[in-house]
Amino acid sequence: MMPFTLLIMILIAFPVSSNGGKWGYNGPNGEHHWPKHFPYCGGAFQSPVNFQPELLRYDPNLFAIQLQNYNLSSREQLTLSNNGHSVQLSLPSYMQLTGLPHRYSAAQLHFHWGTQNVQAGSEHTVNGKQFAAEMHVVHFNSGKYPNISMAVDKSDGLAVLGVFIEVGEFNPAFEKFFKYVNGIKYRDQKVQVPAFNIRELLPSRLDEYYRYDGSLTTPPCFPSVLWTVFRQPVTISLRQYLALATALYSSHAQEVAPMPMLGNYRKPQLMDNRVVLVSFQDGWALRGTLSVASPTQRRQVIQQLLQGDLADLADEKLHQLLPKIKRKPWAPKEWKNDLIHQQSQKQRNKVPGPNGKNLPVLKNTDPSLSLAKLGINEDALCFISMEKNVSFQLLRRHANEEMVHALKRVVFPELNLRSYLKCKSDLDLQTIRCLLRTRPTDEAAELEQSLTKATRTDRQQTMPLPRSMTPNRGSALTKLAGQTPITALKNAHNMFPPFYRQIPVEYED
Ligand SMILES: [Zn+2]
Repeated sequence: MMPFTLLIMILIAFPVSSNGGKWGYNGPNGEHHWPKHFPYCGGAFQSPVNFQPELLRYDPNLFAIQLQNYNLSSREQLTLSNNGHSVQLSLPSYMQLTGLPHRYSAAQLHFHWGTQNVQAGSEHTVNGKQFAAEMHVVHFNSGKYPNISMAVDKSDGLAVLGVFIEVGEFNPAFEKFFKYVNGIKYRDQKVQVPAFNIRELLPSRLDEYYRYDGSLTTPPCFPSVLWTVFRQPVTISLRQYLALATALYSSHAQEVAPMPMLGNYRKPQLMDNRVVLVSFQDGWALRGTLSVASPTQRRQVIQQLLQGDLADLADEKLHQLLPKIKRKPWAPKEWKNDLIHQQSQKQRNKVPGPNGKNLPVLKNTDPSLSLAKLGINEDALCFISMEKNVSFQLLRRHANEEMVHALKRVVFPELNLRSYLKCKSDLDLQTIRCLLRTRPTDEAAELEQSLTKATRTDRQQTMPLPRSMTPNRGSALTKLAGQTPITALKNAHNMFPPFYRQIPVEYED
């Protein structure tokens, strides 16, 4: 157990992050202030994001989303509630998603919308276009965790389906519960509604979607969500939209000044070197369709960083580490070749390397297992224990503001590595540096210098790099704790037994 005095010290140093959290979308509790009390909101891999064409990568392995038991019996009752931030409909856990890396069980669905006059309130946007509203159907990894509370702070904990909503034709499926919203006008009010076929709330096409690694879009913003946002929007009528935008309050019934519930969406977040996989090829999405290296090649790159010949990497293979350096804006041939590589990888046990040479394939094809052998704890990322560890490191400095930056620097390399191996991120310089710190040799220093130089040259030649690509001279936590980030990552799991917030944390998506 954590010593009681230490617990008290942490609660004194970070009192508001333990109070269950007052947050909203405007004023002193608005989204710019979230990181003060919820440090992950200022951290890595946040949601929502803008689906810009240049971020999209077509992935031929993304198949139609498979739903199980979405057709609920009308004999069953669902709880419709006003949680002060949105309208939420509870869902039974036997509703499931399959065909994903884990089995996911449904927990609830809820909405984000604009205002009465401005019908723009979706969280994700498509090339800058904001839709009128967005529905999130939240699922947790029930193959691995017993309930959503245990899953919410794990890096593989949640899967959310996002649905864009436009104002247009009346939608009878949404009316099945919209007609009860007058019964939940005020915060914490609840009504029971007969269940129905939840599939009818989704677009007809479940095979076209955007997929990326992201976060809850509300505090505490844990980066624990596998996002699937459908390409095709659904419609609701103007009257149905206004039922959301005018009938609800985020304040309690007894409060003197009622606060209308509107504009409850978070703005798009930084990409942090992530890319967005898409399951469709037609239309403008093709322009950004370029896959740089297969998952197998990516595993080899990481293994080479950890155990291989670094001089070789510094001399010839820099482009493998920072794919952006050699990337052309449009290279269909290269993309096709990479697809052929991925397909041939299933048939043969060797993968053509970038120079036409056959590279040896790791015997273990599960990246999480091979990484575990290398000492990287991929699946056990627990954000609450990590937050407590960082709090502890910063405690004596009363460094609340440093908390956000330190957490980002501790969490980012591991998330970037996971996502890179699944082709959902480019490899970040900060991550490479973390890996190289396990190898304090002259070759490692030389490679790091080459990378910094290559990144600078690339930056001069092309557009400005995202913030996460800027050279990192060691994280705040590293400086404070005198340990490498990788050690800090490992210690974050080992230093304290898991302990949970004293008051349950609200989370919506
Ligand atoms: Zn949401």
